[in-house]
Amino acid sequence: METYTTPTDQGYYGEFGGAFIPEMLYPNVEELRRKYLYIMSDPSFRDEFVALLNDYVGRPTPLYLAQRLSSEHGVNIYLKREDLCHTGAHKINNTIGQILLAQRLGKKRIIAETGAGQHGVATATVCALMNMECIVYMGKKDIERQAPNVARMKMLGAKVVPALSGSQTLKDATNEAIRDWINNPVDTHYIIGSVVGPHPYPDMVARFQSVISEEIRWQLKEHTGKEFPHYVIACVGGGSNAAGAFYHFLDETKVKLVAVEAAGHGIKTGMSAATTQLGKPGVLHGSKSLVMQTEDGQVVEPHSISAGLDYPGIGPLHANLFKSGRAQFLSATDSEALAAAFDLAKLEGIIPALETAHALAALNQMRFTPGETVVICLSGRGDKDLAAYMKAMDEKV
Ligand SMILES: *Cc1c(COP(=O)(O)O)cnc(C)c1O
Repeated sequence: METYTTPTDQGYYGEFGGAFIPEMLYPNVEELRRKYLYIMSDPSFRDEFVALLNDYVGRPTPLYLAQRLSSEHGVNIYLKREDLCHTGAHKINNTIGQILLAQRLGKKRIIAETGAGQHGVATATVCALMNMECIVYMGKKDIERQAPNVARMKMLGAKVVPALSGSQTLKDATNEAIRDWINNPVDTHYIIGSVVGPHPYPDMVARFQSVISEEIRWQLKEHTGKEFPHYVIACVGGGSNAAGAFYHFLDETKVKLVAVEAAGHGIKTGMSAATTQLGKPGVLHGSKSLVMQTEDGQVVEPHSISAGLDYPGIGPLHANLFKSGRAQFLSATDSEALAAAFDLAKLEGIIPALETAHALAALNQMRFTPGETVVICLSGRGDKDLAAYMKAMDEKV
């Protein structure tokens, strides 16, 4: 049977995926490819992963019927509260999984790259927890822009190394991390923060995040008597919270899946991060996917008000969902996302992350039949975005 969840042995989802890596990285990636499924299916791994998700991260996260938001849209809207996870977003589900995997591979040293610093903080957190050395590569420009997260990482014991090349942002940090991994193949594990990178990362990260939809199914059944909603909506940067929220519904084609990208100032303005609308097939960060690029294949610098969606690609699982039509891809602009964040705060008393606000904004573009059930992945909380929210309030008055 055709499946949308699991890639081929070579890591392909339809035409997308694979492992396009420098020769010198081959042993590292190959070791991971040979062992990840074996380790993840080991009962002692499962037990430790589940125990940490429950007692440390705070799972299961609630599935909350948002009454006032629901009546606004004439439909039953449930919020999957990943914002209540330790460190404030879904990213920690993945870093917990990968640190346990790294331990079982006998690794002593963890490296990661980060843009806004959210994945860096989630990685530094689990390294502190497991007493592992942690090095986070971050563009010099991002270090200046994201001072609170840099402080968090340092307080958690991580070493934050500035990437000085290129535009001094995420892609340069990624290059530095890859260089480090090539130089330290034996004792180091590279924790990638989304469903991107060479095979097996997209599959591995999707499996760690799939706990989100596993919980949604039984929680929805408790709430409504039915485990399948009509819609699942999630925002997409690289695509890990969406992969987690979609995972156990991917092959249930009666469940409609909606992925929401960042349109930035607008898709046609040249200041956007709507990869499926603007991208073409290409190789980025080790896998074949859709990539925002110029005619001659140079990666285009994306723009979004939310740092977590400001990425010029999308995971291969999602590229396949787009190409096959299994998921619908919408986009929301910076200002639509801001408006949706203020709506949720006033209607439900929940301040969402700016990334998540894009998923909420999509509600205004959709038509529902009364009585339908909609689940939105509330990927993170908005504390980190207060400066942007304050600026928006100032501009209004
Ligand atoms: C990082 C982040 C995202 C985007 O990453 P995905 O891999 O697409 O999930 C979305 N929401 C929040 C709160 C984030 O921190």
